[in-house]
Amino acid sequence: MSAAQVPIPKVPTPRVLILGAGFGGLELSSRLSEELGDAVSVTLIDKSDSFVFGFSKLDVMFGKRQPNEVRSYYRNIAKPGVEFRQETIQSIDPNAKRVVTDKGTYDADILVVALGADYDLAATPGLAEGGHEFYSVAAVEQLRDFLPTFSAGVAVIAVLGPFFKCPAAPFEAAFMLHEMLEERGVRGDVKMYVLSSLPAPVPISKEISGAIIGALAERDIELWASSRITSIDPATHVATIEDGRTLAFDLLLGVPVHVAPPVVVEGGLTEPDGWIGIDTATFATKFPGVYAVGDVTSTPVPRTGVMAEGEARTLANVLLAQLRGGDPPPPFDGVAACYVEWGNDLVARIEVEFLGDTPPHGSFIEPSAAITAEKVEFGASRRRRWFGTD
Ligand SMILES: Cc1cc2nc3c(=O)[nH]c(=O)nc-3n(C[C@H](O)[C@H](O)[C@H](O)COP(=O)(O)OP(=O)(O)OC[C@H]3O[C@@H](n4cnc5c(N)ncnc54)[C@H](O)[C@@H]3O)c2cc1C
Repeated sequence: MSAAQVPIPKVPTPRVLILGAGFGGLELSSRLSEELGDAVSVTLIDKSDSFVFGFSKLDVMFGKRQPNEVRSYYRNIAKPGVEFRQETIQSIDPNAKRVVTDKGTYDADILVVALGADYDLAATPGLAEGGHEFYSVAAVEQLRDFLPTFSAGVAVIAVLGPFFKCPAAPFEAAFMLHEMLEERGVRGDVKMYVLSSLPAPVPISKEISGAIIGALAERDIELWASSRITSIDPATHVATIEDGRTLAFDLLLGVPVHVAPPVVVEGGLTEPDGWIGIDTATFATKFPGVYAVGDVTSTPVPRTGVMAEGEARTLANVLLAQLRGGDPPPPFDGVAACYVEWGNDLVARIEVEFLGDTPPHGSFIEPSAAITAEKVEFGASRRRRWFGTD
């Protein structure tokens, strides 16, 4: 019997403990509440008081939205059967399904780890002193004040790890920086580069990669593919690339190396690749009754909110089938659409399929005002569904 098939204990109200209230945790708790209401006891734990969409970080960084406008507060969650706790998880015992936080100890019948990915700035020596990461809320709030002071020199946007959340984000950052510099009338004084560890912007799709490469060329932004920066000299502002080349810069915006949160690693949940191994049909880990979704897993799909959400929906169906009896649901298909900021308030869409019968593939839908409106509705629909707010 695989871990996924271990039946949920026949208790009057199963205790479901969800660690992490990001895309995965929010969708899972919403769906369980929708289907089961008070028949299940869901505890949702996150160290933060609020959720921020990944894409909103770029809006904050480039001054398009105020930091307080993009926060959805967990205190607004009011769903039958769901209780939110703002606590920091300090240890996870996956054998006992026991979790210790800074405020208490929890025992679960079903434990779901949805703690996302952390950033390891030290993995790129010199980044903290000589560059800026732009993937955390704290960093984008600082960059919002700093970027308007940058007016001339070499700007580098660099992917520093082998893979990362939201494959389009570094290119979106480049397009938005280009637009900001143009608006300020200083674009001609700045040479722009994107350096990526990957061989192409979206390696599974020539169509999507071609559209992004074309848009970079139109804006005179140079792309260095397969060029991962391994260290930065903060004194001279020179970045060294894996193959020994160097690049001098005045501004470096880095996508930091991603790692599983330490509490996940210390709990023995991760595999040698550093992430939680799962059965892609059920999201079961090797520990009975313990599941994982989203960026913290080693699932073979891109790390994006829409994938984490789709995985959480599938996991909800797996748990519902177990609780109610019935056939297991179809596995997650790895199909998702992501929005790509193209500059000048236009948004494009990329559509990908990862886990179907065909090899992973994707397509590109040209930027338009209609897709811009679609993206706004995407965010609003999640805020309504998860928080009951507009
Ligand atoms: C700049 C940027 C742009 C992006 N754009 C998009 C986009 O357009 N579309 C898209 O689909 N995705 C986008 N993403 C990616 C998306 O944000 C992530 O892939 C998604 O949030 C992953 O969901 P998750 O549930 O796995 O983890 P997360 O949403 O990261 O949630 C994990 C939660 O765990 C909590 N946590 C971690 N450790 C602890 C602890 N010890 N104790 C308590 N709580 C803890 C965190 O506070 C966090 O709330 C973007 C990301 C970035 C950075």
